Amino acid sequence: MPPAKRAALTGWGRYPSAECDIFRPEKLAELAAIVSGNATSLIARGAGRAYGDAALNQAHRVVDVQRLNRMLAFDADSGLLRCEAGVTIAEIIEVFLRRGFFPPVVPGTQFVTLGGSVAADIHGKSHHRDSSLATHVTSFELMLASGEVKRCSREDNPDLFWATVGGMGLTGVILEVELRLRKVESAWFDGEIAIAANLDEAIETFERTERQYGYSVAWIDCAGTRGSLGRSVINLGNVASREALAPALRQQPLRIPRRFAPTVPFNLPNFTLSSLGIKAFNTAIYAMNRKGPRLFDYQSFFFPLDFIHHWNRIYGKRGFVQYQCVWPANESREGLIEMLEAIAKWGGGSFLTVLKKFGPQDGMLSFPMPGYTLALDFPVSKGLMEFLDRLDTMVLTRGGRVYLAKDARLKPEMMGAMYPNLARWQQVKRAADPNNRFSSNLARRVGLLPS
Ligand SMILES: Cc1cc2nc3c(=O)[nH]c(=O)nc-3n(C[C@H](O)[C@H](O)[C@H](O)COP(=O)(O)OP(=O)(O)OC[C@H]3O[C@@H](n4cnc5c(N)ncnc54)[C@H](O)[C@@H]3O)c2cc1C
Repeated sequence: MPPAKRAALTGWGRYPSAECDIFRPEKLAELAAIVSGNATSLIARGAGRAYGDAALNQAHRVVDVQRLNRMLAFDADSGLLRCEAGVTIAEIIEVFLRRGFFPPVVPGTQFVTLGGSVAADIHGKSHHRDSSLATHVTSFELMLASGEVKRCSREDNPDLFWATVGGMGLTGVILEVELRLRKVESAWFDGEIAIAANLDEAIETFERTERQYGYSVAWIDCAGTRGSLGRSVINLGNVASREALAPALRQQPLRIPRRFAPTVPFNLPNFTLSSLGIKAFNTAIYAMNRKGPRLFDYQSFFFPLDFIHHWNRIYGKRGFVQYQCVWPANESREGLIEMLEAIAKWGGGSFLTVLKKFGPQDGMLSFPMPGYTLALDFPVSKGLMEFLDRLDTMVLTRGGRVYLAKDARLKPEMMGAMYPNLARWQQVKRAADPNNRFSSNLARRVGLLPS
């Protein structure tokens, strides 16, 4: 068995931190030895982009699978790609975009592994049309606590398939994933920027344009109040056809120019994100954008935050919490108003606030449901956790839920109420992992483990 290193780990939000025994296996045999070798609990970790404690395991094992990152097979006719779970979305884009293929679903950063993406059953800006990643995954190989490897698909071990997508690494270690890439003619998005003066205009824009555009996202200005509550800049688009590009771009439609990506070199002091700073930033973003047609390159469209490496350091040493929730369609408008008003009144503000529309969803613990989802960043500060508890109650009262891949503080009594399929998921977990070998801080904190 390869040696472990005891070290402090965090998720992307840098809150909380946990001392874990970290393994970095390079071979399957090493991984099997770690998984089945000892009775202590373990959890897989990919690129560590989950915000909270999903890939932490205080005083126990964390298995970093990023070295298991070979691409194994690709069929250009069907777009089916098979690769190891440590391959990142960025690597898939790097290799396959030039061949005219793109991942079917991408999150707001490309620096996530495929294993982590399946475990969180990630969604992108096209959920209303494409649903979550699981829809495009045809099968994966899962290493169970016994060391046995099972192929899971809609036909083979379907319960394990549906419990593992969105199952936050708690059914086993995903070794390989087969998914269908999408054929694209260019690396560009043909669309528009819409400006919404308030929340009703934002929702109206999503509803009016959803047949026209496959991808949509709104950046809400949290500084807006009363009549301007929910004012936002909305990016809408479809993959551009080659013909839609200007002649100069048409020569190499699958290439985009490289850009300089600065790094935040150290933790910024806490005053950087004072509520005044947040307000000024939000107001500037809203004021800077002009409505009208746009051609976006895929990086600016999907991954604007990736242009600043280590942007999570701007929140300083204490870190931050991302709060992402979803409301059922018929409760979304009222839920959004209630939450945005509560945030404005509380005065803490959110640096980045993102609104998206969700469509139908499968999976036992997958987060999305048809309706609207809001994601907000809050620097860790006095009173924050109590405030977020209040937001949980508001969300639950309207039949919504909170996203586990972003979470660092949800209480167990909320978990069961928000995820009605939890008991069914626990049955599958119990059968696959009777001794709860797969565990994490998140799992223990929100009560995911069956007794
Ligand atoms: C800037 C930013 C934007 C984001 N935008 C979105 C978004 O738009 N939509 C969205 O859905 N998510 C979004 N996320 C969240 C992110 O996509 C998920 O948290 C994803 O799980 C991160 O993958 P990772 O490889 O970093 O996994 P980690 O953070 O390392 O782990 C996340 C979970 O996956 C499990 N896991 C990892 N690898 C394996 C494996 N091989 N086998 C079994 N389990 C495994 C871990 O145990 C853990 O529970 C965003 C995150 C960031 C930082």
